[in-house]
Order: sequence, then C-alpha cells, then structure tokens
Amino acid sequence: MTALVLEERGRLSLRPVDLPDALGPADVRIAIHTVGICGSDVHYYTHGKIGPFVVHAPMVLGHEASGVVTEVGATVTDLSVGDRVCMEPGVPDPNSRAAKLGLYNVDPAVTFWATPPVHGCLRPTVVHSAAYTYRLPDAVSFAQGAMVEPFAIGLQAATRARIQPGDVALVLGAGPIGMMVALAALAGGCARVIVTDRMLPKLDIIGAYDGIVAVPPDAVADHVADVTQGWGVDVVFEATGAAAVIAGLATHARPGGTVVLVGMPVDPVPVDIVSLQAKELRIETVFRYANMYPRAIALMASGKVDLTPLITATFPFAQSIAAFDRAVEARPSDVKLQITLP
Ligand code: ZN
Repeated sequence: MTALVLEERGRLSLRPVDLPDALGPADVRIAIHTVGICGSDVHYYTHGKIGPFVVHAPMVLGHEASGVVTEVGATVTDLSVGDRVCMEPGVPDPNSRAAKLGLYNVDPAVTFWATPPVHGCLRPTVVHSAAYTYRLPDAVSFAQGAMVEPFAIGLQAATRARIQPGDVALVLGAGPIGMMVALAALAGGCARVIVTDRMLPKLDIIGAYDGIVAVPPDAVADHVADVTQGWGVDVVFEATGAAAVIAGLATHARPGGTVVLVGMPVDPVPVDIVSLQAKELRIETVFRYANMYPRAIALMASGKVDLTPLITATFPFAQSIAAFDRAVEARPSDVKLQITLP
C-alpha cells in the first residue's frame, strides 16, 4: 500500500510500503478516511526527533485518524464492518502495572503511532486493537472524528486541573493544543476561559467561541484583574512550552490555585519555584491522555463542543507532502490541517 513516509529528517515521500497487517482476534481492520497533521508529525519532519524519540529508519507519519471498519477479529463483539470510527493511537500492554492502575498513557510499553519506531496511519488501511477503536455517532463527522485525538489532550488537562463549576482559567498559548485545552476547560465547568497568544489571528479564531476571551499577552493582567477582582485565576494552563512564559507561570494564578503543564519545552527550562510556593499552587502535568476518547466523542455528539471551526484546510492524500510543507510554514491563521484518503 502507498503511505506517507518520513524517509529521514526533512524528506517525505509518498510511496509503497510493506507493513505487517495480520488481523489478530482482538483487532479490527480500518480503511482510513481522515488524518489530522499534528505538531509532533511536523517536528519529526523538521527535526527528525522529539526528545528521546529519534527517527532512525523510514517511518509512516500520522496519528490523528478516523475511518471505517472493514474487517473484525474473531473475538471482537462491539464493532462491526461498516462502523465509522476513530482510533486512539497509543495501545498499552493491558497487563502492565500502569494499565492496571488506569494510567495506561504512561505505560513504558505503550506503542504509539508515528513515534519511532512505530509506523503511523497516513496510509489506506491499518490494523488496530478494537479496544482502542471507538464508534463515531452519526452527528460526529470523519473530520471531527480525526480531532478527537488532540481534543483528548485538552480533556486530560481539564481533568488533571480538577476544575470546579464556575472556575476561571487562563490558557497560555493558542496553538492547536492551547485551543483544545480552552474548549475542554469550558466544557469541564469553567465560567470563563481567558486565552492569550502573541499571534493575533489565533486569538480571533478561539475568541469567536462563547465563554472564551482571547487577549494579547500585554492585556492579560488587566483582564484577569477585571474578571477575578484582582484575585487571580483558579487554573493556569501552560500550552506554549516557551521558557519565558514558564518563568511567569505563577503570575496570574490565585493563591491556592492550580498550574497545569501541557506544553513541552524542547530543552530544559528554569522554573521559579518560590513564586509557585508563595501561592501554594498545585502543579499538574499532562502526557497524552487516558480514558478521554469516550468523553471527547460524547461532547462532540451532544453538540456541546464543535471543533469544525478549527479545521483550516483539507488536502487529498496525493497532496500530503504539500500539506506537510504548509504545516511547516506555520501560518498564524492555520489551526488544524487534515488529509483525506481516497
Ligand atoms: Zn496529535
């Protein structure tokens, strides 16, 4: 089958690949319909690695996918041929200690699409564990189905924050993940979510949602003071990974509030610990997600969360390389680029 292959750093090709695709008893075979391009895919393309994960051999990219079930394994009872589905790209060892604790996202044995050496899903078909394949209700399109993956990260962040009804949150960074976090925080009970970013077109896009106030960095202090009568926000979500932003993490949090670290700095960054201690802030971290797909799908199906305004452009599979080069450009008005398979 033809796949989008990252041959090495900086070089993509659309070419035939020979991948094992035997269907196990607990697996389903899926014809891929839509795949979103993620920042991590782009980072492997431009840098050839993310932290300890290094591309040493050609790897198929893509991990944010929806599709249609074409074959089910012998023991699969809850999915049928023809079901529209989306897939969770990380499959843990079900017998691992992490999986038994419900923390399967941090199972050291997890295999995750398009994380070296595991191939991704930018190809016509995949074989995947049925337990990590989720049926899409009619109200959720394939395009939205391929947004479940990044939205699950937002929901993981909102869950880790332990939001209470009526909380006010601040999201630092309006990249795709910052936007997902903002919408998840709102869905999770925040009365208001303030989002900030230096790129103004991104603020226009996320600020169009009810309940979200999008302001440039120099206006954050005034808005936080206005909304919270000078007390500070209940939750600060860090979604930039930028050292300068992380240095000021405690600035807008209320005493006793929470900071959630979502962004991943490329290099280690200094943290002003005393500024966090002085407000006795609770610090939470996020790595991917666990048990968030059903929640993401339920929020989309109910109409409570609509991510379609965040899909900027859709490219046919044959133009996958052009789609990736567009993603590398990082246009300020681009949020999510998707690729559809024939
Ligand atoms: Zn992703």
